[in-house]
Amino acid sequence: MGVITRFAPSPTGPLHLGHAFAAMSAFDLAQAAGGTFLLRIEDIDQSRARPSWETQIFDDLHWLGLDWPKPVLRQSDNLKSYAQALDKLWDLGLLYPCTCTRRDIREASRAPQEGQPAIGPDGMIYPGTCRAKSPPCGPRPQDATLRIDVSRATQGIDFIHFTEMVHGVRGPHTRSGAQLVKEVGDIVLARRDMATSYHLSVVVDDAAQGITDVTRGADLFEATQIHVLLQRVLDLPTPRYHHHPLIRDASGKRLAKRDDARALELYRAQGLSPRDIRTMVGLG
Ligand code: GLU
Ligand code: ZN
Repeated sequence: MGVITRFAPSPTGPLHLGHAFAAMSAFDLAQAAGGTFLLRIEDIDQSRARPSWETQIFDDLHWLGLDWPKPVLRQSDNLKSYAQALDKLWDLGLLYPCTCTRRDIREASRAPQEGQPAIGPDGMIYPGTCRAKSPPCGPRPQDATLRIDVSRATQGIDFIHFTEMVHGVRGPHTRSGAQLVKEVGDIVLARRDMATSYHLSVVVDDAAQGITDVTRGADLFEATQIHVLLQRVLDLPTPRYHHHPLIRDASGKRLAKRDDARALELYRAQGLSPRDIRTMVGLG
């Protein structure tokens, strides 16, 4: 199968150097393999996504010299696919509704002598308060926050595996079901106000688009085990992963996603060329 890569920005702000690096790495990887580079717009968070940012993304990426097949997949147009995946997980008995607030979770995690709540790749590890409350039955509740029961989801799965091409220790990575239960916990897959989640939609779309190689920042490395678990339970293929180091500024400080001072548009306005950007991010 040919290589298919993707760049999947959220249109919630300007693209900065880190995005440029991620996009160009994905593009280069596809080019080198004679494959296909795709752009996907991850705009499920409609409270933050803006069409004007999307337009700016297209413009910045074209300026960088990237091109991709059209039309692009926009996640807000694809909510049906995520609902289908949720239905499948619900029918498998792997989801349950949760009504906890962040505060409830913090307090339940602290009791009785736990100290600080444990933090996983998706924030505070859920203490399981709602898990046993309502055994999932009947149709999937709409407009509800749904968590995956990771302990059930990993039943019959001793280990999950994925291949990392760049970050830290290259090569195969393995996590046990027990590790996922302890270190990830029952994460949210659908929100009341969103009807899906980053994790679910990324997994569904990567599979639907036939992505063979996921390139993204090392900040998402720990999320990958969640994605591989979802691929296993949804019976979807696992791509290869390339988590690149995060771009740092001259003083070694990690560039924040919303560091607007690093926006590509500002470098463009200063007269820098796409080649200069490549050099700046170390892809020269
Ligand atoms: N949309 C995500 C972001 O902008 C990237 C998702 C991914 O590459 O898996 O951070
Ligand atoms: Zn709950």
